[in-house]
Amino acid sequence: MKVEISKTYNPQEVESRWYGMWESKGYFRADAASTKHAFAIVMPPPNVTGSLHIGHMLNNTVQDVIVRRKRMQGFNTLWLPGMDHAGIATQWVVERELRTEGLSRHDLGREKFVARVWKWKEEYGGNILRQIRRIGSSCDWSRERFTLDEGLSLAVREVFVRLHEEGLIYRGKRLINWCPRCMSALSDLEVKPKSSESKLYHIKYPLKGSEGTSGEFVEVATTRPETMLGDTAIAVNPEDKRYKGFTGKIAVLPLVGREIPFIEDTAVDPKFGTGAVKVTPAHDLADFEMGQRHNLAQITVIGEDAKITAEGGVYQGMDRFAARKKVVEDLDAQGLLVKVEALTNNVGQCERCSTVVEPLISTQWFIRIKPLAEPAIRAVEDGRTKFVPPNRSNDYFEWMNNIRDWCISRQLWWGHRIPAWYCECGEVIVSRVDPEKCTKCGSSKLRQDQDMLDTWFSSGLWPFSTLGWPDQTEDLKTFYPGSLLVTGYDIIFFWVARMMMFGMKFMGDVPFRTVYITGMIRDAERQKMSKSKGNVVDPLEICDKYGTDAVRFAFARNAAPGKDLALSDSQLESYKFFATKIWNAARFMYQYVDDSDHLPTIEELRASNLTLVDRWILARLALATQEVRQSMEQYQLHEAARSIYRFFWDEFCSWYLEMIKLHPERSKPTLLFVFENALRLLHPFMPFITEELWQSIPHKGESIVIAPYPELESGAGDAASESDTEMIQDIITKVRNIRAEYLVDSKQKVIVRVATSDQRIIGLLKTAGDYIHKLAQVGEVVVVDRIAGDKLSAQAVAAGCTIEVPLAGLIDLAAEMTRLTKLRDKATKDRIVIEKQLSNPDVIARAPAEVIEEKRRQLADLEDQIRKLTAGIDRLN
Ligand SMILES: [Zn+2]
Ligand SMILES: [Zn+2]
Repeated sequence: MKVEISKTYNPQEVESRWYGMWESKGYFRADAASTKHAFAIVMPPPNVTGSLHIGHMLNNTVQDVIVRRKRMQGFNTLWLPGMDHAGIATQWVVERELRTEGLSRHDLGREKFVARVWKWKEEYGGNILRQIRRIGSSCDWSRERFTLDEGLSLAVREVFVRLHEEGLIYRGKRLINWCPRCMSALSDLEVKPKSSESKLYHIKYPLKGSEGTSGEFVEVATTRPETMLGDTAIAVNPEDKRYKGFTGKIAVLPLVGREIPFIEDTAVDPKFGTGAVKVTPAHDLADFEMGQRHNLAQITVIGEDAKITAEGGVYQGMDRFAARKKVVEDLDAQGLLVKVEALTNNVGQCERCSTVVEPLISTQWFIRIKPLAEPAIRAVEDGRTKFVPPNRSNDYFEWMNNIRDWCISRQLWWGHRIPAWYCECGEVIVSRVDPEKCTKCGSSKLRQDQDMLDTWFSSGLWPFSTLGWPDQTEDLKTFYPGSLLVTGYDIIFFWVARMMMFGMKFMGDVPFRTVYITGMIRDAERQKMSKSKGNVVDPLEICDKYGTDAVRFAFARNAAPGKDLALSDSQLESYKFFATKIWNAARFMYQYVDDSDHLPTIEELRASNLTLVDRWILARLALATQEVRQSMEQYQLHEAARSIYRFFWDEFCSWYLEMIKLHPERSKPTLLFVFENALRLLHPFMPFITEELWQSIPHKGESIVIAPYPELESGAGDAASESDTEMIQDIITKVRNIRAEYLVDSKQKVIVRVATSDQRIIGLLKTAGDYIHKLAQVGEVVVVDRIAGDKLSAQAVAAGCTIEVPLAGLIDLAAEMTRLTKLRDKATKDRIVIEKQLSNPDVIARAPAEVIEEKRRQLADLEDQIRKLTAGIDRLN
């Protein structure tokens, strides 16, 4: 029976066919009881609110290519998918929805609000997991997890209690970042610095005993004058000679009248302003630390609502920015405002809602992080976990070595609630099970802490909580430590570092052996994608347009670890064309192959009498297989993709299929063998089209997903067959070039003279000359001692010999001269224009570097053209 696939390649049709079958057959399921080597990846859990963006597409492509190959290699693969409850992000979405109904979460109350979020999750959440299926990700969905699952919540509680028992979790008053809109503490990482046009206000602080504008004073500078209401000292550097003898003096805080001391602290930069700085321990981190060193009072003048507190006297109740204006006006009226300068500085914003963050002193829960960080630092130092590319470990060390205690409480309602209860007697109970009575006084009037844990607390446990920890499950034994983590560099601190710390602490081993850091996807001009620029690409849209396989291949082909990649339509177009080319190769095959044909083994092929080109293609297949293995072992997916592309396109389609048109029946076994192997080699990159075509040719097994990955590393070919075939190909290419250059009619056959005395070439031209006849429209190949150098002939070097194609009678001499001369004149004109541009200093100064580069390239091309045209004209003269 003849095999049939549709005439044209239709990605949508092909891609809708297979995923359901793969999933229902259980191919993606890991087996905890298997004796095979395990290869495990946990998917970075996307937010439950998320939908697939271009970064996910890259991240998933990388993971899927690696996992599919490992699965085909016979590993017991686990790719564990799931989602993060994303505390603040999800709460924000549901609160926004409530606002459209004129409600706030407080109108609903905690319980109803949380129920509402769960309802939202069931209805709208998890869209992203459907999209992840759609792009072919071969996850084990039977093990899908959610950070708020019962099991994972149990793990969170266990970790909290254990760390608390060991004194590594504590409750304390610290200066934290506060978002007055979200009404929640933020970790340092949730504050994004935004470059802003600010003002620097210079203010006079009179010295005690000389109040009034004429007396003695010091000048301080601040961008946040409203915080002066909470100043409790003035600090100078002990080395600063200008302030020798100031210790012991007292300043009088303007507008407030509080007396504040001078202190000396080496943290003060004598070069900033006048060298004297105001100290506000309750509203600035550096000041907070300085205040602790000098036992200064902490006076909170801005509240959680960003309004001035009672401590702010007459300013009480004003919004912080209104208060800023008023404070400045009042200082000015009293003659205490020296000057105002414009200044660009970074202002911290809430990464969720962009509200300016207010540093506040607040009672929060913290993790004492240094004892956790040390083993995690050592694990990367001694290579138990490796970064790809290796230089990304520098970011990790940099952060880990300067780590601060982690504020883990969040004033949210959605997430894991802090398992701490307060008794009226003052006792704080932290417990694995909800306590009924106070352990100290026996009272049952207990109040649970209102706060939730930072989302990253539960995601930090992801590599083992998803496998059943704290129970010692089979999954945990088999799949921990994981083999690989694939993630972006933006969450090395948020996430990778925390998984490392928790993994070392609770599992006694690293959570993964390798951390693969992906780059960022940029547009064709290498610009960052952003909504404001309007250059954001929707991954599902391009999958619809070009086919998922083509998009995956484009990503893999560009995915050098840690390097940003530029995505262009022309690239996507070319990989769609690549898929089409493979499709057409299959259609060509079906002319000769039907499903009763036998798929040979390499041994059978080796034992048979293969043609020269069969031996050649087998050697090339072996080489591609070997290159793919080497590249993939180093996680260089882009190199592997390049090898496969070159093999499929240049060698298999462009040469092999053309050359065997001379003897299709004889080459059929090799053709089948090579195509079937190449599909398996390509499968991890382009899963859909490879399954479709593999199913339509003779094959062994029920799906390419679980077929073995090709391991052929030496073909039935040999060095001699390779170089012989390449010599023939070289001659064909050169003759084709000459025909094209001189516009020889495609129906006209030409004669080729080859100047050689090399017996091997002479023999080869006899046995393999037919390929030249057929593929280059050659009537006769003649071996000569040397090239006569006919005027009307074209020459080239091919296969190490000079070859000549006589052109007399094939071209119209006069017309050809005119044509070449015209072309040369045009190229010369163009060259002059570009040379002028490049010698104009204005152009050089203004134009972007890429433009200049492009011009230089054009110039080099034109010079090359002119040289060739001149040589052609000379030959005709
Ligand atoms: Zn906020
Ligand atoms: Zn009590």
